[in-house]
Amino acid sequence: MTEFTGLTAIVTGGASGIGLATARLLAARGARVACLDLTPEAVPEPLLGIRADVTDDDSVRAAVRTAVTTLGRLDILVNNAGIGAQGTVESNPDDEWHRVLDVNVVGLVRVTRACLPALRESPHAAIVNTCSIAATAGLPQRALYSASKGAVQSLTLAMAADHVREGIRVNCVNPGTVDTPWVRRLLSAAADPDAEFAALRARQATGRLVSADEVAAAIVHLAGPSAASTTGAVLAVDGGMQGL
Ligand code: NAD
Repeated sequence: MTEFTGLTAIVTGGASGIGLATARLLAARGARVACLDLTPEAVPEPLLGIRADVTDDDSVRAAVRTAVTTLGRLDILVNNAGIGAQGTVESNPDDEWHRVLDVNVVGLVRVTRACLPALRESPHAAIVNTCSIAATAGLPQRALYSASKGAVQSLTLAMAADHVREGIRVNCVNPGTVDTPWVRRLLSAAADPDAEFAALRARQATGRLVSADEVAAAIVHLAGPSAASTTGAVLAVDGGMQGL
């Protein structure tokens, strides 16, 4: 028996990076986990991969229905699916704003809305949102991404207030730069990947990138019964980035 034995979870964006590390850790601790993603074929067993596009309400509702029916109940939702964006308010056109906010903010709302009825049935209901230190750090060339994650942090606090009396806890984790396929894609597109990697490392006071497993450990802590009195918390996992 472990802390998560008998519990179930949905992890969005669970086919890669932080989401996959979180799903694996939840499963290792005894939970049964469904990963909702655009690429469910990339989800390894025993995790359950289900196709979902968080920008499409019908797709989200169908995927959540399949997950809850298959798992038999729902205790934990990890809203993790997200995309990046670089640029300033001048360089990102309107359609780019709509595209990123639709995934990072409205996507989280769609998935949460679809999951709430099942979460209300759980005595251990918890939602953890993957936010970012960009929500508060004032990073250059990240206007749109920072705005999207600022909204996720605000939403976390508002959702925590709205749902605490029905027994649903809501918290978020704010990672610094994490070594995931997303960051590797960014690096390989850079003019000088080695210089870019050094700059990303230097931004963290620890001098190294955060690992996906370290972020997963924070998410799983907030998702579990041992955090039963924690709601509305914002947990930074950023290698000391805030202090720079
Ligand atoms: P990743 O690209 O490795 O994984 C993201 C996953 O989300 C992918 O599997 C992708 O298919 C899925 N996804 C994207 N759009 C989707 C959609 N419309 N519907 C369903 N699934 C979709 O990225 P990651 O680095 O693991 O990032 C995960 C989360 O962590 C994101 O919310 C990101 O903003 C946040 N984050 C990442 C970092 C970092 O440095 N990597 C830092 C802070 C926060």
